[in-house]
Amino acid sequence: MSEPILLNGKALSATIQEEIKAAVDARNATGKRPPHLAAILVGSDGASETYVGHKVKMCDKVGFKSTLIRLDESISEADLLAEVDKLNKNAEIDGFIVQLPLPKHIDVDKVTQAVDHRKDVDGFHPVNIGRMTQGLPCYLPATPAGIMQLLARNEVETSGKHCVVIGRSNIVGTPMSILLSRNNYPGNCTVTLCHSRTKDLESIVRTADILVVALGRPHFVTADMVKEGVVVVDVGITRVPDATKKRGYRLAGDVDFASVAPKSSFITPVPGGVGPMTVTCLLQNTLKAADKEIYS
Ligand code: NAD
Repeated sequence: MSEPILLNGKALSATIQEEIKAAVDARNATGKRPPHLAAILVGSDGASETYVGHKVKMCDKVGFKSTLIRLDESISEADLLAEVDKLNKNAEIDGFIVQLPLPKHIDVDKVTQAVDHRKDVDGFHPVNIGRMTQGLPCYLPATPAGIMQLLARNEVETSGKHCVVIGRSNIVGTPMSILLSRNNYPGNCTVTLCHSRTKDLESIVRTADILVVALGRPHFVTADMVKEGVVVVDVGITRVPDATKKRGYRLAGDVDFASVAPKSSFITPVPGGVGPMTVTCLLQNTLKAADKEIYS
C-alpha cells in the first residue's frame, strides 16, 4: 500500500482564508463595511474559551469585525434569549453564534431556534438544516461544510462509495450522513449512520470506503476495524492529560492515526485536519451573510 494522502485542513484553511480576505478587500473597496461576526460565550469552559478566542483571532486575520459577548454561567434562559433577540435585531451584525455547550439549566434547542435563521452562520437552525436536507441554498453547519470541502478540494471519489458515519449529533454526524447521500459531489454515497446503539459496529466499519468518525472517544477506531484503502475523516477532539506539554494536555482524535494511516488512501490528522476547516467555514458563512448571498 502506498503512503496515505493527508487531508490537510490547516493548509486548505489558509488558502480559503486568503480567498475570504480578498473578497473582504473587494467589498471594502466598494465602500461596504467589513463583515461582522458576533459570538455569545456563556460561562468559562476551557475548550469553549479556546474555540471562541480562535474564532475572534481568525476574524481579525481575514478583515472581519468581531464582537464577543461574555455572559455569566448563571444567566437565566430568558435573559440569554433576550441577548439572542438583541443580536437578531442589530443591523450592524451579519451573523452570530452561541458557543456550545450551554449550562445544563438552559434548553439548547430553544436557543438554537431563537437565532434568526438569516444570521445563523453556525447552520444549526431547523430552517437551515431543512434547506440543507432538500439541497436548497443555506448555511451549512461549519464542521460538515469543512469536511465536504476537504473531500472536494482533494478530489476524493465519493460516488457509489459506502460511507460509514460514527456519531449522530445534530452538528456533525447527522448532517454528514445527509450531505454525503445527496445527488451531488461530494456525495452519491450509500451511507450507514452508526451510533451508541449500533450492533456489531466493527463489522459495519470494516465495510466502509469512507469513514467519518465523530463520537469523542480518543483512538476508538483502530487498524483492525478498517479495510485497506479507506478514506478516514477524524472529527474527534478530546483533551487528554499530558504532563510533557506546557498546557498540560494534548488533543486526541477518535482514530488511532499511527495504526490506521498505513491502511488508508486519505486521512485527516488531529490536530490540523477537520478543526481548522470548521472555523474557516464559519467565516465563509459570515461572508455569505454580509453579502446577503442566501437570504435577502
Ligand atoms: P456528541 O458528543 O454530541 O455525540 C456523540 C455521538 O457518538 C452520539 O451520537 C453517540 O450516539 C455516538 N457514540 C457514542 N459512543 C458510541 C459508541 N461506543 N459507538 C458508536 N457511537 C457512539 O458528538 P459531537 O458533538 O458530534 O462531537 C463528537 C466529537 O467531535 C467530539 O470529540 C467533539 O469535540 C468533536 N468535534 C470536533 C469538531 C471540529 O471542528 N473538529 C466540531 C464538532 C465536534
